[in-house]
Amino acid sequence: MGKPGFRIGIVGSGFAGLCAAIRLQRAGFEDFTIFERAAGIGGTWRDNTYPGCACDIPSNLYSFSFEPNPEWTRMYPQQPEVHAYLLRVVEKYGLRGKIRFGWRSACSMRARPSRSTRCPA
Ligand SMILES: Cc1cc2nc3c(=O)[nH]c(=O)nc-3n(C[C@H](O)[C@H](O)[C@H](O)COP(=O)(O)OP(=O)(O)OC[C@H]3O[C@@H](n4cnc5c(N)ncnc54)[C@H](O)[C@@H]3O)c2cc1C
Repeated sequence: MGKPGFRIGIVGSGFAGLCAAIRLQRAGFEDFTIFERAAGIGGTWRDNTYPGCACDIPSNLYSFSFEPNPEWTRMYPQQPEVHAYLLRVVEKYGLRGKIRFGWRSACSMRARPSRSTRCPA
């Protein structure tokens, strides 16, 4: 059962957005939605498809700590493999139904020391 009283919006379905979603799930929050302006999952790894596009740090470090991937085929995997990893994570954690594609968040919020958090005009 999710914690009541919070409705949470996550912007984007890249590594950061997916990580936020899974961490929220683990903390017991189920009432969240991921707003993704594009038509697919993966952010950087969805958009960059040029030949040779690859991760430049070792793959065992470029994955979620809670979701290690023993199936990396090489130390510096190429874009399709990283993208496939993110797609698998989405399915494993049941996130697909939480994502609204084609939604662009129009308002960002910043915390400023000693000032209230507000949406810029
Ligand atoms: C070719 C390439 C190789 C890289 N290799 C590495 C590497 O080896 N190691 C490393 O640490 N980093 C690497 N990076 C950096 C990489 O971008 C980050 O590691 C990471 O993928 C960023 O994830 P993110 O979720 O923060 O952002 P993104 O992957 O950019 O995802 C943001 C998502 O939010 C969506 N979005 C943005 N604005 C809005 C909005 N207003 N409303 C709704 N949706 C929105 C976007 O469509 C996107 O899906 C690489 C980047 C590139 C381009």
